[in-house]
Amino acid sequence: MISVQNEIVLITGASSGIGASCAQVFAQAGAKLILAARRKEKLQEIADRLNKEFTTEIYLIELDVRDRQAVETALNSLPESWQNIDILINNAGLSRGLSKLHEGDFQDWEEMIDTNVKGLLYLTRYVVPGMVSRGKGHVVNIGSIAGRQTYPGGNVYCGSKAAVRAISEGLKQDLLGTPIRVSCIDPGLVETEFSQVRFHGDTERAEKVYQGLTPLTGDDVADVVFFCVTRPTHVNISEILLVPVDQA
Ligand code: NDP
Repeated sequence: MISVQNEIVLITGASSGIGASCAQVFAQAGAKLILAARRKEKLQEIADRLNKEFTTEIYLIELDVRDRQAVETALNSLPESWQNIDILINNAGLSRGLSKLHEGDFQDWEEMIDTNVKGLLYLTRYVVPGMVSRGKGHVVNIGSIAGRQTYPGGNVYCGSKAAVRAISEGLKQDLLGTPIRVSCIDPGLVETEFSQVRFHGDTERAEKVYQGLTPLTGDDVADVVFFCVTRPTHVNISEILLVPVDQA
């Protein structure tokens, strides 16, 4: 196992769920964290909690990953001591509703594709060149089981996560010959704010998603991310599918 002590880890979507759990796991291991999301107050709460528990350095970025210019500005404005990002966790993402494609909502499509696909591309495009020039780095993309199994009404979300998987593989191939590693982690059902966001705050509908099974937690996924990152540097875990034991 390699150490992440003092490594700089940028986590998108760190204000809740899987991203917040990743922040916890990497803080505990002594990494330096750049936490990004749109809700800065949530990021601040997480940073305050982590600062009480661990002696970790945390830098917060209020960022909408859909905004390419904002991504570029945020990364270019990092203080010098935060610029050498060692680990990028592209986690920000969402699903919206469940509807037939031919009845779909254009705004929902744009939100999913712009966040899950284009946001991930922007971060990757701006961060990876630094990794290449320093000869060190790991990109972890959070995909989904939805990128492997399409379910009724999941058309665009499933497509966006299939894209995450293909882009991860493409990036890995583009980086062959460099020491940069690329992993795509595909979780099944995880109990986070995800379902509430999906159903526009309808908590009753959100809770039904988890009925009849014990979902994964954000911590379960963060453990797997941490496992991938801490393998010896010649080991690249390209893909992992993790699901609750009772999910098909
Ligand atoms: P949450 O809703 O709890 O977290 C999503 C995170 O993404 C939040 O921190 C949110 O922050 C951030 N985010 C959303 N849109 C943007 C944006 N435009 N710019 C910046 N940040 C954004 O859900 P999860 O933790 O479950 O989701 C994390 C990832 O895991 C997603 O990519 C999701 O698709 C994937 N996933 C989730 C599964 C599940 O069952 N929960 C299953 C498989 C994959 P903020 O609102 O503050 O911007």
